Amino acid sequence: MRLYNTYSRSVEEFRPANPLKVTFYSCGPTVYNYAHIGNLRTFIFYDILRRGLGFAGYRVRQVMNITDVDDKTIKNSSKTGVPLKDYTETYTKYFMDDMDKLNIERAEEYPKATGNIKEMQGIILDLIKKGYAYEADDGIYYKVSAFGDYGKLSGIKQDNSRSRIAKDEYDKENAADFALWKYWTEDDGEVYWEDKLKKGRPGWHIECSAMSIKYLGETIDLHAGGVDLIFPHHENEIAQSEAYTGKRFVNYWLHGEHVLVNGKKMSKSLGNFFTLRDLEERGFDPLAFRLMVLDSHYRTKVDFTFDSLKRYEKTMQRIDTSMRALEVLEKRDKDGKDLLAENEFNDNVEAATKKFKDSIDDDLDTHTALEAFFSVLDLVDFRVDKGEITREDYAVLKNAITRMNSVLGLETKYEIPKEITELAKQRQELRKEKKWEESDLIRNQIESKGYQIIDTGKLFAVVRKYFNT
Ligand SMILES: [Zn+2]
Repeated sequence: MRLYNTYSRSVEEFRPANPLKVTFYSCGPTVYNYAHIGNLRTFIFYDILRRGLGFAGYRVRQVMNITDVDDKTIKNSSKTGVPLKDYTETYTKYFMDDMDKLNIERAEEYPKATGNIKEMQGIILDLIKKGYAYEADDGIYYKVSAFGDYGKLSGIKQDNSRSRIAKDEYDKENAADFALWKYWTEDDGEVYWEDKLKKGRPGWHIECSAMSIKYLGETIDLHAGGVDLIFPHHENEIAQSEAYTGKRFVNYWLHGEHVLVNGKKMSKSLGNFFTLRDLEERGFDPLAFRLMVLDSHYRTKVDFTFDSLKRYEKTMQRIDTSMRALEVLEKRDKDGKDLLAENEFNDNVEAATKKFKDSIDDDLDTHTALEAFFSVLDLVDFRVDKGEITREDYAVLKNAITRMNSVLGLETKYEIPKEITELAKQRQELRKEKKWEESDLIRNQIESKGYQIIDTGKLFAVVRKYFNT
């Protein structure tokens, strides 16, 4: 498998230290609000990386931090009068709901920042001892000039001549220095820790260093985030971790691109921040958004518009229909006349499967992988039109789709209500009796309830009716 490493700015062969335990740290959400589609794209990117590694035969151990203490969480919880712990737990739950709706697999661990304060304090004390950190009036800072390798990930070098005069608003020695520990102020209210360090709370960057080292080890295989995290967050993580352990922190750094909305950057002033809830309220299936994200390479920007989301919603229906119809197709035994076509069929599925594997191995090229997936669905649709399938073809198609979906994750999970299945059965009976008008009435009834019937020869499949169809 080959992956683009931000470190070397090139696509490299992925060589984990231990293929049976690939260590993967993914920067997680700050749980102060609902995630927006830009955040969600990053989480889908992590999911594809994780699933892609699994597809390539690796065993992955993924850790994702939950930032449940920072300026934003404290500000919002005090504004609403809800204690920080309850406030962040609520948004952590919403975050997990979003993950489920987007078919994002769970990581092995979701450590919370507030659950790892001692580890952070331990690193900070060590950095002070080694001369990488110092105390100022309002907290403890990392001394960027002390770390010779600073800037090796982002290529952004620090200009140490821009030293600030003491007693400016931060009271830190250099503009590039960043807070490891922030001393308590009145704004923090009940939120503080005081044991190993003076009353206060951790900075954001230190939490990822502490949790990556604690849960995955001093040197890990993969660390991922959105491109906006390269500098300063990931640069700072390297400076903290490598000064602390004396070892290389991460072997492969991966970064996912942004989402634009109507060609523009998402911003508060433009009011173009959308959450998954916003999409659902407009009647979209979250998986249509997943599909939209997968259709682009993770290192290119996705331009989100509702018009294009509608197109992906339609494509999602096509995927859903083919997969559900395959399950109800009448399965029959093979007979002699199938044999010639059968050879070609197996070749086609094999070619599609190979194309799929090659594209995922090629730095997670999900766009090309989707082409391969659709070519398999074409073979399904051909049989749906004929109304039957041999048991052998069914097994081959089912296997190919299941394997591809182990990476794509485009299987819908909704169940058809009993009431709808009953109506569909009634309609089938009426059709047998050639009572077309009555059967059409039932079809309309089913559609008015948001479902649709797909006839497959003697049988039928019911699927959810999608947006704009
Ligand atoms: Zn992080």
